[in-house]
Amino acid sequence: MPRKNDILNKLTIQDLPIKGKRVFIRADFNVPIDDNLVITDDRRIRSTIPTINYAIDEGAKVILASHLGRPKGKVDPRYSLAPVARRLQRLLNKEVIFAPDCIGSQVESMVSRMKDGDVMLLENLRYHIEEEKNDPSFAKALAKLADYFVNDAFGASHRAHASIVGIPKFLPSAAGFLMKKEIEYLKGSVEDPVRPFVAILGGSKVSGKIGVLGNLVDKVDKVIVGGGMAYTFIKALDFEIGDSLVELDMIELAKEIMSNLKKKGVKFYLPVDCVIAQEITPGTETKIVTTQEIPKGWKALDIGPASVKLFSEAIQNAKTIIWNGPMGVFEIDAFSRGTTAVAHAVADAYAMTIVGGGDTDYAVHKAGVSDAITFISTGGGASLQLLEGKELPGISALTDKT
Ligand code: AMP
Repeated sequence: MPRKNDILNKLTIQDLPIKGKRVFIRADFNVPIDDNLVITDDRRIRSTIPTINYAIDEGAKVILASHLGRPKGKVDPRYSLAPVARRLQRLLNKEVIFAPDCIGSQVESMVSRMKDGDVMLLENLRYHIEEEKNDPSFAKALAKLADYFVNDAFGASHRAHASIVGIPKFLPSAAGFLMKKEIEYLKGSVEDPVRPFVAILGGSKVSGKIGVLGNLVDKVDKVIVGGGMAYTFIKALDFEIGDSLVELDMIELAKEIMSNLKKKGVKFYLPVDCVIAQEITPGTETKIVTTQEIPKGWKALDIGPASVKLFSEAIQNAKTIIWNGPMGVFEIDAFSRGTTAVAHAVADAYAMTIVGGGDTDYAVHKAGVSDAITFISTGGGASLQLLEGKELPGISALTDKT
């Protein structure tokens, strides 16, 4: 039986005879764009460049497509991919033809005029409601543009949308280089880790990470939990947590997870102190207290210095680290120190370090240590789903190697 998310069983772009052929590359160009339509972070675009350059060098006609934001099936200039076309042009140092739509006779005739090595970017897939509905005739209209399909949109591969799972029903379909790398790192780290293997989880909600914790119980040596989600665990241990974030419906599950971790001999770390405030606003009064002493009316918004020391020591001898989710409300300077300190500890560890999730990625860059991280995933939801041990629809849909 084929194993879940097993990229080794799937075709990759290098298996396709793309010379002189039309190749439809689904990318994840869902980048932040400000009010002046300037791209403020182009890392997702840069990550797909190796796949695009390979296709150009092989002499393919390269047709790129992506979603951007949530235009909800309507044409909305705020979500146009035009700024992405301009940025791509600079990054590739070559003309990028920009199509005004992603399907239809005008686009088809533009594609028919493409020469080998030409690059075209289609307009936002989500201008058509059929994309998110995985409509078969929309997928067929997209597939009509090309001879081969390549999925390099790891960040969108947990979604069963037309451009992810629909097109592969009509065309031979392969993984791009970014997709392959993402799966190899995220799956490899969990399935065959060099030990000690430490997982660091943070962010606001236990509910968002509970699947990951459940899947990792059998695999990790240590689990560190920080961020808002830690206080549900602390409450489950019968401590008062003031007005800190809590998910009361997760308390029983939190108890179960802690008991499972204990049974498996996995070391489990929670914050021992925290930075508290009454308001989540910059400039508000803050205090550092132990986790047992959070007063009513106060919220724990970052881990404190003793927790930073505890977590850093737990990370120090790790050989594999995965980290997803900030340790506090890192968007506000007063509550960002814990996340920054953990970023430094992860970067300093002599380990394979894998960071996932948009916030954690941002925190690592803000701390200036991104170059010291082995792999930063481009997909938040997709990386969590992979760490939960779930199948990614976008990978299953690719053509099996024979
Ligand atoms: P998530 O999307 O679940 O990974 O959560 C990320 C968000 O969690 C960030 O926007 C943080 O501001 C927030 N967060 C982290 N720690 C806390 C905390 N102690 N209390 C409230 N929000 C938090």
